[in-house]
Amino acid sequence: MIPAAFEYYRPTDMDGVLAILAEHGDDARVLAGGHSLIPMMKLRMAEVPHLIDLQDVGGLKGITVEGGTIRLGAMTTQTEIIGSDTLTAAAPILREASLQIADPQVRYMGTIGGNVANGDPGNDMPGLMQCLDATFHLIGPDGTRYVAARDFYEAAYMTDREDDEVLTAVSFDQPVGGYAYEKQKRKIGDYATAAAAVQIVKEGGKCTSASIAMTNLSDTPIYSQEAGAALVGTVVDDAAMDAAVAAMLGDIDPTEDNRGPIEFKRHVASLILRRAIARAWSRA
Ligand SMILES: Cc1cc2nc3c(=O)[nH]c(=O)nc-3n(C[C@H](O)[C@H](O)[C@H](O)COP(=O)(O)OP(=O)(O)OC[C@H]3O[C@@H](n4cnc5c(N)ncnc54)[C@H](O)[C@@H]3O)c2cc1C
Repeated sequence: MIPAAFEYYRPTDMDGVLAILAEHGDDARVLAGGHSLIPMMKLRMAEVPHLIDLQDVGGLKGITVEGGTIRLGAMTTQTEIIGSDTLTAAAPILREASLQIADPQVRYMGTIGGNVANGDPGNDMPGLMQCLDATFHLIGPDGTRYVAARDFYEAAYMTDREDDEVLTAVSFDQPVGGYAYEKQKRKIGDYATAAAAVQIVKEGGKCTSASIAMTNLSDTPIYSQEAGAALVGTVVDDAAMDAAVAAMLGDIDPTEDNRGPIEFKRHVASLILRRAIARAWSRA
């Protein structure tokens, strides 16, 4: 319950954040919604001598939908995502997924940036961002660079982000077609036993493109290119569904924990993906 002592900083601009990060290296961490970092500090699983609160830094909030591109500022909360009718009209999968994350109090605080930067395979947004082929915007001492969500995750809590970089936004093309975020969990606020994000396009009764990513079934989110490809050109019948599930099972690598043994997780992953594809297809 009791975190170790730390120095608290509250800069008002990004230069201030970057200066503190540069000075203290991996002894410093940014604080967004605090609903992954503070629990880790309370358990003393994270020691953060220098904590940099982002809440007063301008330009990190907001949702824009312009010219077919959607941009979410890193400090945009889950509640703001759920509450945005503009975003829901443009990319309804965001609201569907966000409503399955945590609980109302956590969603008031937790941010999209924290969720994707955290690196916990249990987080739901990373897989969703891979499904949407999102781009992460990272600012550091050398300026801004852009990393595809599909290339960002390296291992549990290991990402392409350097210690002196801050994630400022995520952006992605406005998705087309049917969508679904399906999640199996033990109770509200639990991380997924298995979850699937699916976007699917139907033209002339056939699937012309499909994007599939899985959550909490490996030490990173898993974008399964093969699973999506198995649906393309089909009418998404049982055979196509079987092929997509088989491809997905070839890509995941779950481990046993208190959510169940490996075979159980593979079974749940199969069911969840079938449900997600069926629902996305019915909406396409
Ligand atoms: C009870 C409970 C249930 C939860 N259930 C779920 C769930 O079902 N699904 C789910 O996805 N999440 C869940 N969460 C996690 C929650 O969504 C967190 O809020 C989220 O993981 C992190 O977002 P944050 O803004 O709180 O980040 P913080 O906790 O502030 O930060 C998390 C990490 O990301 C880093 N970070 C944050 N912002 C940035 C940035 N802009 N640039 C660089 N690094 C940054 C921090 O330094 C830290 O290392 C749950 C949390 C709780 C407490």
